[in-house]
Amino acid sequence: MFSSLLASSYMGLATIISVITMFFVPQHSQHFRSRGSIDKNKALVEHLQYYGIIKSGKVAEVMDVIDRGEFAPSGCPAYDDSPMPIGYNATISAPHMHATCLQLLEEHLQPGMRALDVGSGTGYLTACFAIMVGAQGLVVGVEHIPQLVALSIENINKSSAAAFLKEGSLSIKLADGQLGWPDSAPYDAIHVGAAAREIPQSLIDQLKPGGRMVIPVGDLFQDLKVVDKNLDGSVSIRSEMSVRYVPLTSLEAQLS
Ligand code: SAH
Repeated sequence: MFSSLLASSYMGLATIISVITMFFVPQHSQHFRSRGSIDKNKALVEHLQYYGIIKSGKVAEVMDVIDRGEFAPSGCPAYDDSPMPIGYNATISAPHMHATCLQLLEEHLQPGMRALDVGSGTGYLTACFAIMVGAQGLVVGVEHIPQLVALSIENINKSSAAAFLKEGSLSIKLADGQLGWPDSAPYDAIHVGAAAREIPQSLIDQLKPGGRMVIPVGDLFQDLKVVDKNLDGSVSIRSEMSVRYVPLTSLEAQLS
């Protein structure tokens, strides 16, 4: 009870900080990596554990291994719990949202499983998924901004997930994520990092029976939906929480 109260007031504070940062953080400042980045990343993970956002030991481990500083734009306060602009009207999601999505998908990101990350942006979660499913698994990130595809590959190459990219169990595709990536379907886990007006049928189709999709749905008011495909092929949908993501849209609409 106390921890959920603490967590919800913490989320409120994090949202206020997020909005302020969205407007005031420079998008392309000079590259800077402090020697203490590993410690700072660890402190961020511990902070999220303290506030009850990270409850899973596995998720804490993965967020420890994948250093957010290697994915956030240089010059940004990478270890603050807020989203950061990454250019092209996109953001790297806040750490508490990354943690929440990893936890919701944890059972579906076991070694050897397949995951799809739609709107992979910086590649942060895509890299986390690759660590979770391991070399026997498969992770596909789909992003429609060519510059972000290039940036995410650069980021992943600096990270602990670099070997998966090299060996081919992790890949980033330039495509319209609303269509998913049918070539590697069906997936045990699908994460969508941008808000859809409606849940795209092609993504439901690409979910394995027993699989789970986490997707923000809505326009001004959005809910993070958890979509479970049951073993008989039927689908159960529930709302996890209210969220604020950039839209899952066409390239033209996003850039205009
Ligand atoms: N999880 C990512 C979120 C990035 S923001 C991260 O934390 O880095 C959402 C991303 O969705 C943006 O990079 C945006 O370009 C992408 N996006 C939006 N609509 C898309 C579409 N139709 N197809 C593919 N990517 C899309």
